[in-house]
Amino acid sequence: MSTPVIIDGKATAATIKQEIAQEVERIVAQGGKRPHLAAVLVGHDGGSETYVKNKVLACETCGFQSSLIRYEDDVTEAELLACVDRLNADPSVDGFIVQLPLPPHIDEQKIIERISPLKDVDGFTPINVGRMSIGLPCFIPATPKGIIELLRRYHIETSGKRCVVLGRSNIVGKPMAMLMMQKQYGDATVTVCHSHSLTLKEECRQADIIIAAIGRPGFLTADMVKPGAVVIDVGTTRVPDATRPKGFRLSGDVDFEHVAPLCSAITPVPGGVGPMTICMLMLNTLQAAQRG
Ligand code: NAP
Repeated sequence: MSTPVIIDGKATAATIKQEIAQEVERIVAQGGKRPHLAAVLVGHDGGSETYVKNKVLACETCGFQSSLIRYEDDVTEAELLACVDRLNADPSVDGFIVQLPLPPHIDEQKIIERISPLKDVDGFTPINVGRMSIGLPCFIPATPKGIIELLRRYHIETSGKRCVVLGRSNIVGKPMAMLMMQKQYGDATVTVCHSHSLTLKEECRQADIIIAAIGRPGFLTADMVKPGAVVIDVGTTRVPDATRPKGFRLSGDVDFEHVAPLCSAITPVPGGVGPMTICMLMLNTLQAAQRG
């Protein structure tokens, strides 16, 4: 068995951020304005704080303006909706995100649906989801978009291949399957598996490409992978680990140690899909700024 290609999302994301920064400097040199991304963060969840901090840092790397709007956990739905309205109307803001999850007393879907589709750089509003599903220009959710970009930059053939997507969430599994199916992106034959799939293992064994997005550490084991398959691991679960400074490590959905030797290409966790996600958010913000 030949050594698998380890798909380096960290290096690819760094290259793309450089490309974005160059484009921003070109725009500014021609008298245009810097793209401006705003983020709304509710509460003090450790994961959300880290994601938002990394998004602000990525804005700096790309030469964007960024704003962070913070609320405590007891913010009301009406206050958040008013904030979304203000950001929708603010001409200085090109795109914004409301970091999820929100506290249980707030209807997430209601907040998402209030975001202007023109500023919805997460690609979560029904208008963008619908446009994506019929192949119209739109904001594509960052994680699936990052995976498509990794496959493209690593020249991985997807057209006509059998692709299994594990997971059917609105932010990863569903859009991923939609993109892999579409002619202009994956052009693959796609199967989606979830927690009620009776033939999940058999589907995986026949797949040329497996994209695992379920949030179950080490779920995809070597007996589920065909030799030569491409495996993309979206999972990022915090697993307690006393040997790490933060007391946890990130674990993917793939048993990397035993699966990697079988693969033609595979993403590691961390350093695979994760860094691409924020990078694609930057690309969507640049797209929003260029449109406006
Ligand atoms: P989610 O909303 O919890 O959805 C999980 C999906 O996996 C559901 O469709 C669920 O099926 C399915 N599932 C759960 N257990 C399963 C099992 N034992 N067998 C088969 N299917 C199973 O999660 P998500 O938001 O899509 O995220 C998935 C993972 O990706 C998480 O680890 C998350 O942290 C990670 N993630 C990473 C990035 C990144 O940038 N790297 C971005 C987003 C998410 P049902 O529908 O039947 O419940």
